[in-house]
Amino acid sequence: MTTDVAAGQKTAVLSCRDVHKSYRQGSEQVAVLTGVDLSVAVGEKLAIIGASGSGKSTLLNMLGGLDDPSAGEIWIQGAAVAPMSESERARWRNRHLGFVYQFHHLLPEFSALENVAMPLLIGRVAPAVARQRARQLLAEVGLAARTAHKPAALSGGERQRVAIARALATEPGCVLMDEPTGNLDPATAQTVLELLLRLNQESGISFVIVTHDRQIAARMDRVVSLRDGCLQDVDGAP
Ligand code: ADP
Ligand code: MG
Repeated sequence: MTTDVAAGQKTAVLSCRDVHKSYRQGSEQVAVLTGVDLSVAVGEKLAIIGASGSGKSTLLNMLGGLDDPSAGEIWIQGAAVAPMSESERARWRNRHLGFVYQFHHLLPEFSALENVAMPLLIGRVAPAVARQRARQLLAEVGLAARTAHKPAALSGGERQRVAIARALATEPGCVLMDEPTGNLDPATAQTVLELLLRLNQESGISFVIVTHDRQIAARMDRVVSLRDGCLQDVDGAP
């Protein structure tokens, strides 16, 4: 049994077991997650839905190694996160995961190209190689003509496409997205969704998408719902 679980964690891009999280609010401990188990397979597209405040962002941040659980274990690409030092964790995260948020979090003083190249430069890829790869990624998301634009000169949908290109720069096994279309109008959200589906098909990258958008959830391989601190499978259409 123990061996099976360990084997499963090795083949999953991301997994967690019995994850709990509580926050201190004044003198009280508020339990947000009370035993979350999850395993994301290679190439899988998973949607996490749930009411506002149910803990979706909290869970996503812990799966991404950005925050520590109060109890439980997390594995990124088969490696347990807890024993890693801060710098080991940052390096492992940079190599294996990409992140996309509701607000693009692009660096305003840098061009689209420089923003996309950033994770590669942080990973010590040679600048010329990083720029070449960034240019190629921007072309893939339909922004070949926008490489020199700064975020302020781009539309909302274009910024989010730059953020997606940036998340893909290091060729991660999995991209974690927190309401990636939450700030976009429906037509632009649809374009971004089609882009994500195409990238998943072409690269076999896994996606974990927190979303309110039923259309997005319906296009994923699996939908889970966060409720009362635990994940439940959602059968059929969400
Ligand atoms: P969701 O993304 O599903 O809307 P969140 O994960 O952002 O939910 O938040 C879940 C709950 O945890 C909320 O009640 C929120 O107030 C609380 N919470 C989130 N982050 C913190 C924090 N850093 N300190 C205290 N409480 C927090
Ligand atoms: Mg949230």
